Amino acid sequence: MKSLYNDNEEKNFTTDLELRVYTSRLLGQDSNLVLHGGGNTSVKSIVDGEDILYVKGSGWDLATIESAGFAPVKLAPLIEMAKLDTLSDTDMVALQREAMIDDSAPNPSIEAILHAIIPFKYVDHTHSDAVVTISNTTEGINRIKEVYPDFLIVPYVMPGFILAKSIYDMSKDLDWSKCNGIILLNHGIFTFSDDAKTAYEDMIKAVTRAEEYLNNHAKLELKEYDDTSFDYEALQEAISSAKGYDVSMKINDSILAKNYANSNDIEKLSRKGILTPEHIIRTKRYPLLIDSDNIPKILKEYADEYKSYFKEFASDEIMLSPTPNWAIIKGVGAVSFGKNEKEANIIDDITSHTMEAILRGENLSEYECISLKDGFDMEYWELEQAKLKK
Ligand SMILES: [Zn+2]
Repeated sequence: MKSLYNDNEEKNFTTDLELRVYTSRLLGQDSNLVLHGGGNTSVKSIVDGEDILYVKGSGWDLATIESAGFAPVKLAPLIEMAKLDTLSDTDMVALQREAMIDDSAPNPSIEAILHAIIPFKYVDHTHSDAVVTISNTTEGINRIKEVYPDFLIVPYVMPGFILAKSIYDMSKDLDWSKCNGIILLNHGIFTFSDDAKTAYEDMIKAVTRAEEYLNNHAKLELKEYDDTSFDYEALQEAISSAKGYDVSMKINDSILAKNYANSNDIEKLSRKGILTPEHIIRTKRYPLLIDSDNIPKILKEYADEYKSYFKEFASDEIMLSPTPNWAIIKGVGAVSFGKNEKEANIIDDITSHTMEAILRGENLSEYECISLKDGFDMEYWELEQAKLKK
C-alpha cells in the first residue's frame, strides 16, 4: 500500500484539525482501509487552555469528512469514563454530549473514549481488509502475533465502552513508547503519533506488512469465466415482494464474484459470514445462496433460519426483515439489494471486499469471523442502527 501523503498539499493545512481532515481523507480514499463510514480518527488539541479531543462524528465518512464532521469533546471526562466499571450506551452518549464544547457538532464516534486514552496527538483507526483477513482465520491470533510483534493485540470485544475499557485495563503497564500500534482481532487496527503524517504513514506501513504476508502465504489467483445468463428480474421481484417494497439491485459479475460463485466450496463459503463487524448492519451475516430455480422455497428457508437466529439471541429487540440483502448465484455471480441505488451500491462494495477476504482467508487456512452471538450484538446494537438512519 502506498502513502498518498503529499508534502506540497500539506502546506495548505495549518491547524491541528485541518491536518486531521487531510490525513483522514487520505485514509478514506482507500477502500482496502475503510468503506462507507467505517473507521475513525481523532486529534487532541488545546482550546482556551483546555485539552480537547476532536473525534470523527458518528455518520461521517472519512473520504469526505470536513472540520465540521469532528466532534470536539473535553479530554478529561472521556478518560474518566474509561475508569468506570460499567457504562450503558445511553449514559455514554449522554456523558459525551455533556462534555462537548459545541452543541451543534455531531455525536462523537462510538470509539471516542478509546481515542481519548491513547496518549498521542493523532490517532488513526481503520478496518484494513488485509489485517482483518489474517485475523479472521483459525490460528489468526498467532499469525497476527507473527506479523505484529511490536503491537498491542486485543481479543475481540464489542466496540464502544467495553472495548475502550479493556484497552484501558490492558495498557496500564504498557510502555506506549515501545508500542507501534494496536490490532483489534476480527475488527481492525490503530496507529498513532504526535505527528499527523507519521500516524498516517505508520498505518500504511503496518497494513503493507499484512498485505505482504497475504501475498506470500495466500495469493489469490482468479480464473476467467464466461457470462452465464440468469433471470435477475424474477429474483428482484421475489426479493421486493418478500421485503414489501421495490428493491434496487446491483449485479456483480466481476471476475472476483464469478470465481466466488463458481467455487467448488460455495456451500461452505456462503456460510463464512462477514469481514469487519459493522458490515453486518448492511449485509446481514449470510447471503442467500441460490442453487436452485425454486426461489420462493430458498427465500423461505433463509427467513426461517434468520427467525430462529433472532429468537436465540434476542431479548427485547424488534426483529429486522428476515430477508437477504445480497445473494450468491451458484455458478453465476453475486447480486445486492437495497432500498435505493445508493444502498445497493454500498452493499455491493462491502460484499466484494468480503468475498475477496474469504477466498484469501481460505487460502491461508480457514476463514472464521466473529461468533453468531457477537454478530447479533452488533447487528442489533442501537448505536449501529442509528448510523443507518442518518
Ligand atoms: Zn472500528
